[in-house]
Amino acid sequence: MKRDGHIHTPFCPHGTTDSLESYVEEAIHQGFTHLTFTEHAPLPDGFLDTTPTRDSGMDRSQLDNYFILLDRLKKEYASAISIKAGLEIDFIEGFEAQTAHLLNEYGPLLDDSILSVHFLKHRQDWYCLDYSADYFEKIIRAFGSITAVYTAYFQTVKQSIEANLGPYKPTRIGHMTLVHKFQKQFPCKKDFSREIDELLHSVKSSGYELDFNGAGLMKPLCQETYPPPAVAQKAKQMGIPLVYGSDAHQAKDIGQGWKDMPLLHDSLKEV
Ligand SMILES: [Zn+2]
Ligand SMILES: [Zn+2]
Repeated sequence: MKRDGHIHTPFCPHGTTDSLESYVEEAIHQGFTHLTFTEHAPLPDGFLDTTPTRDSGMDRSQLDNYFILLDRLKKEYASAISIKAGLEIDFIEGFEAQTAHLLNEYGPLLDDSILSVHFLKHRQDWYCLDYSADYFEKIIRAFGSITAVYTAYFQTVKQSIEANLGPYKPTRIGHMTLVHKFQKQFPCKKDFSREIDELLHSVKSSGYELDFNGAGLMKPLCQETYPPPAVAQKAKQMGIPLVYGSDAHQAKDIGQGWKDMPLLHDSLKEV
């Protein structure tokens, strides 16, 4: 099987208007057999999106329509490809209860989902860490150093794995090294292998999967997968399932990075 478990849609306010069908057609063209659409869920109640464009999550009023359209799509393409309805849920420190509330409401409609950290809390503020290199620089200034940003990021990912978000909590951890997105411009001197190892152990003991995300390979300031190959290799040896994610925000990004992720190529032999 060839699976892409992390795909955005026209419901993404910072994505493109490419139709759902265009993503599916591109995936079929590339030989994918399984897809999950994982649009950014609406941000939790009471959370003010701190990105300059305030467009991190989808509009709550569109959620019902999102699931209706995916349901139609699943049926339309049933003979060609397996399609799952999912969401990429933000883990935001301090908004666990509101996130659980959203999951309790929409969880029954989810076939699959991802839990990701995009926002870091610092004092009474939250910062979106993957918005832009300029914005990342602002985060470094707020936290005091690159090391402090990395420390906060990995701690927040750990909290996300351990958080109680109720029965519909996603069981796949999104791009677990997203903090590397601008690493060519802001290299971190400290080695975080110990923290990353701890995360792998938490993922393993929770019975979760990892989103093995190809988007970072295409980002000029990152140039590696999330997580990088050595970490993915270790996860695989530990028996943690790696689920490829293109993180496509436009149809032509389906499959991005796949050919340079040999660890995944064995999955082609699975039926
Ligand atoms: Zn996005
Ligand atoms: Zn994400």
